[in-house]
Amino acid sequence: MRNGELSPNFRDQALETLKKTSAADPLDVFVVGGGVTGAGSAFDAATRGLKVGVVDAKDWASGTSSRSSKLMHGGLRYLEMLDFKLVAEALKERDLLLQHTAPHLVEPVAFVFPFEHRLIDRAFIGSGVLLYDTMATRPGRKRAVPMHRHLGKKALSAHFPGLADDAAVGALEYYDAKVDDARFVMTLVRSAVSYGAAAANHVSVIGYLHDGDQVAGVRARDEISGEEFDIHARRTILAGGVWTEEQQDLAKADAGLKVLASKGVHITVAEDKIKADPNTGIISKTEKSVLFVIPWEGYWVIGTTDTPWNEDVDAPVATSQDIDYLLEHANDILADKLTRDDVIGVYSGLRPLLQPVVKEGQASTKVSREHTVMEVEPALAAIAGGKFTTYRVMAEDAVDFVLGDDAKDRRSLTESVPLLGAQGVGALRRGESGIAEKYGWDEERVKRLIRRYGTLIEDLLDLVDEDPELGQPLEGAERYLRVEAHYAAAAEGAVHLGDILERRMRLNYESRDRGKNAAEAVAAIVAPVLGWDAEHEAAEVEKFNAHVDAQVAAESTEDDASAAALVGATLH
Ligand SMILES: Cc1cc2nc3c(=O)[nH]c(=O)nc-3n(C[C@H](O)[C@H](O)[C@H](O)COP(=O)(O)OP(=O)(O)OC[C@H]3O[C@@H](n4cnc5c(N)ncnc54)[C@H](O)[C@@H]3O)c2cc1C
Repeated sequence: MRNGELSPNFRDQALETLKKTSAADPLDVFVVGGGVTGAGSAFDAATRGLKVGVVDAKDWASGTSSRSSKLMHGGLRYLEMLDFKLVAEALKERDLLLQHTAPHLVEPVAFVFPFEHRLIDRAFIGSGVLLYDTMATRPGRKRAVPMHRHLGKKALSAHFPGLADDAAVGALEYYDAKVDDARFVMTLVRSAVSYGAAAANHVSVIGYLHDGDQVAGVRARDEISGEEFDIHARRTILAGGVWTEEQQDLAKADAGLKVLASKGVHITVAEDKIKADPNTGIISKTEKSVLFVIPWEGYWVIGTTDTPWNEDVDAPVATSQDIDYLLEHANDILADKLTRDDVIGVYSGLRPLLQPVVKEGQASTKVSREHTVMEVEPALAAIAGGKFTTYRVMAEDAVDFVLGDDAKDRRSLTESVPLLGAQGVGALRRGESGIAEKYGWDEERVKRLIRRYGTLIEDLLDLVDEDPELGQPLEGAERYLRVEAHYAAAAEGAVHLGDILERRMRLNYESRDRGKNAAEAVAAIVAPVLGWDAEHEAAEVEKFNAHVDAQVAAESTEDDASAAALVGATLH
């Protein structure tokens, strides 16, 4: 097994591998889209021993998969819709990630669910949460998260003093799990690469190859060099999220999925703005859905909204109204009211909403409540819908679907194959204090590094051993080390400055300056790794800063069209 390094060199090699494919020597499976569904499909197919390729038009996870609520959860609200199968499936996936496949990246988080009416709510919400926890209990197995508990008013105030006094007469505390979504997807891509997949980001699919009525691969464009080339494949999986219909049109398909986009916005506020026990958040019902107040490292993530998006899907962005909506709903339950000044970051994503109808034709389809895999054309299947938490099941379904009868001899293995960095993480955690002492970091920093890299932390330590300067905090974003910027370019596939500041790090919403204060330092660290000259380095900083400025300006606009126009102008 290789270590899945997404180095600049590896990207060149992967492109060569993709270009070298031919009608006589095609890939077994090619995947369009490097969100969690596409990355998961590439990992699934690669671990079955298939010859696999995957590309994303922009960065890994740059679509919806870096803009979620970052919860690996069963979805308590689906219980209200009596969707037991879906909840059971998601809970099983959550626990698999926590206990086996990604214990370094996915961690438990507690939520209080406040209620206003002592008896009715305690009975109703209580029975729902009891069912939720019971569904995640498997006889003879250790639970992945603690069971829920009831909190009276006094216990709730002590546990979550930041909750408004009149917001609740009591609460239930239950557990789910959280994950840095973009980091998870990038690790999934690296894991696929470690099993031999050829993976390249910033490569767009611009057309589909046909052999008779069969799709035989794609026409692609390297967005860095501008070069166009063919990638031949026996089967192609389209995991295009909200871009699915655009790709189906490109393939000139008669049939296809209908996917609408719905915008979900999150805001972040500093940790000290809401008083609570560590690692405890709130879930509260809104008129349409639920509001999450989720604890992260030094800040809270508050979301989300749910409104139709009719603008460019490349530029989802929050308006002033979205932010006010979130503040208003958070303030309904918080003791110390939040203001616009408290908002340090904002991000928006588009839910790929699967419509119950297919576009045309009667092609074969596997529909489940959550996701659908459909044959768009012979040898081209589209998969969409679902949620981050159930990506593994979606990926397995997609690969099974394109393999057809061949799937019988090549069953999915992903239930038992850990992601890179997972194996040995328990033992690594025992050595935290030793690492902290040797490198002069505090233990919190080491814990955080392990949560981000798992056992791949060894790669970073080697780099610091070679150049101790890399072990210093990053200027302008001290929560990160200089080595993390270096490693993002050297091994995590970052190609542009924004890839690092927004997804390998999360500075666009972790820090009030949205990453601008660290932009020059990061550009200087990665320039030699990525082969940038001074002009290129300056252009990257300028582009990133312009994008941040446009996002911030958009947050003062009143409507989606004006907001999207501002941000869209900085994308290309
Ligand atoms: C606000 C919000 C909150 C959410 N919260 C949660 C949560 O807490 N938990 C949970 O389980 N789920 C959550 N979800 C759902 C989850 O985020 C999505 O279901 C999931 O990320 C979708 O992943 P995907 O890979 O299907 O799509 P995407 O991540 O959008 O991936 C599609 C990819 O295709 C690429 N692409 C497009 N065109 C091309 C092309 N021409 N060539 C190559 N590549 C192309 C795009 O660049 C993109 O990266 C949330 C969703 C939203 C919007």
